[in-house]
Amino acid sequence: MADRMTKEQRHKCMASIRSKNTGPELAVRRGLHKRGFRFRIHVKSLPGTPDIVLARWKTIILVNGCFWHGHENCSKYVTPRSNREFWETKIARNRHRDEVTAAHLTALGWHVLTIWECETCGSERLETLLDRITGQIRTVFPEMQEESRRRNQSKASAKREQEEIMKRQAALEAEIDALYPIPKRIRRMSKEENQ
Ligand SMILES: [Zn+2]
Repeated sequence: MADRMTKEQRHKCMASIRSKNTGPELAVRRGLHKRGFRFRIHVKSLPGTPDIVLARWKTIILVNGCFWHGHENCSKYVTPRSNREFWETKIARNRHRDEVTAAHLTALGWHVLTIWECETCGSERLETLLDRITGQIRTVFPEMQEESRRRNQSKASAKREQEEIMKRQAALEAEIDALYPIPKRIRRMSKEENQ
């Protein structure tokens, strides 16, 4: 795809999704709260420190920035022309991490919903998104309950399973480094910029 963003737009886009508590994430959190959903945020004991954890609903919501997480067919995801290889590698790494992290969460019995930054832009879009995800949460819930009955785990075995998967999650960074190496020169730069 061609580079259609101006420098300023790109900077704004990247800056807005570099960290937790981003605009899109806050908008989704506010909307869920208003609709009566309660949740914990940035839960460190779960793989990938998920953004929004609705424990009662056995659902996790991950809010992805379109650029950094490489949203397919999205106007916010445009590889910059300069340092193309670097950006492509960086985004491939993030995608790989996202995929494995979601699989780890699913393995622990969570319903994982991934939403994209572009779905949260504008109040109308945001409302549509919130209708969709809250509908999905409610629809999938009986399945999640059934699944947890089926598992019928003791607290101790649930804890062991979580520890095992957290170990795999910890190993993920090294696997990603091996799969998508970034030259040292650029690595320094990316540490400062970061995700
Ligand atoms: Zn998008």
